[in-house]
Amino acid sequence: MKFKRIRVTGFKSFVDPTELEIEDGITGVVGPNGCGKSNIVESLRWVMGEVSAKRMRGGEMDDVIFAGTTTRPVRNIAEVSLLIDNSDRTAPAAFNDSDELEVTRRIERENGSRYLVNGDEVRLRDVQLLFADAKSGANSTAIVSQGQIGAIINSKPEQRRGILEEAAGIRGLHSRRHEAELRLRAAETNIDRVDDVIQSLEGQLQGLKRQARQASRFRNISGHIRSAEAILLHQNWISSAAEVDSAQNELAAAEKEVAEKTGHSAAASTAQAEAAEILPALREAEAVASASLHRLSVERDNLETEERQAREQMNRLIDRAHQIE
Ligand code: ATP
Repeated sequence: MKFKRIRVTGFKSFVDPTELEIEDGITGVVGPNGCGKSNIVESLRWVMGEVSAKRMRGGEMDDVIFAGTTTRPVRNIAEVSLLIDNSDRTAPAAFNDSDELEVTRRIERENGSRYLVNGDEVRLRDVQLLFADAKSGANSTAIVSQGQIGAIINSKPEQRRGILEEAAGIRGLHSRRHEAELRLRAAETNIDRVDDVIQSLEGQLQGLKRQARQASRFRNISGHIRSAEAILLHQNWISSAAEVDSAQNELAAAEKEVAEKTGHSAAASTAQAEAAEILPALREAEAVASASLHRLSVERDNLETEERQAREQMNRLIDRAHQIE
């Protein structure tokens, strides 16, 4: 991996866009104290994915953004782009389809950093792996800062091991192993979750099977009920039709009877009218007859009295005749 150019904008003391060509051989930056030489090295470290604000000599990461001077206002965005020669195609597969890679990191005040490779947004992890595979990166020992040699000599064996691993080119593998372990743990967590889901689904499955059995029994029984209801309705229909027939016959007979009775009633009405016409004469005749009946009854009573008296006379006379004899 060969760095070709670094472009810095709004980063630390570099308020204006500044480009530094990195030529073959040694490229040196010469300047007085405090002119920003270390800032250039830091911009290189930063674009490769540095996450420690302390190692960037700041309190928080926003401190890398140009903080303003008496003559220049404060900036809200800082950007560093690193152009890499990839003509030997040693970049990771995801980025290995072009001869040049431009890795960009942009930070916006209070909004954190974004990473781009050839204009496409990528994760911090992708950028870190890209450089780790090339035995470089923000924490690479290939970048030796002021006082770092002394620090390495005085470092603990564990820290020195990191330096040796990087020199042996296995730092990238360690990063990948760490990422793989994280993925493995995530996959194990997912498997546990899937087991839980399977268990709860099995519980649901039992319930659903029971419901399915009930539903099929319900379907069977409702089929029977429907056919029984159909038979019952058919029978009701047949008997109702028979009842309708007989009711119609009865209606016809009743209508006939009503017609006859209406005829009789008309005749009776006529007879009643006629009888009503002769009734006064008959009442009068009845009164006359009843008067003569009364008179005759009186006469009969008189005659009976006379007859009784005549018989008593005759009996008395017969008694005298006997006495006389
Ligand atoms: P030395 O040779 O002493 O190590 P140097 O050339 O490496 O110095 P740097 O340490 O890179 O210089 O730069 C320090 C300068 O950068 C200081 O003047 C400081 O004010 C300026 N600086 C740092 N951070 C910012 C910032 N966020 N905004 C503006 N200026 C900044």
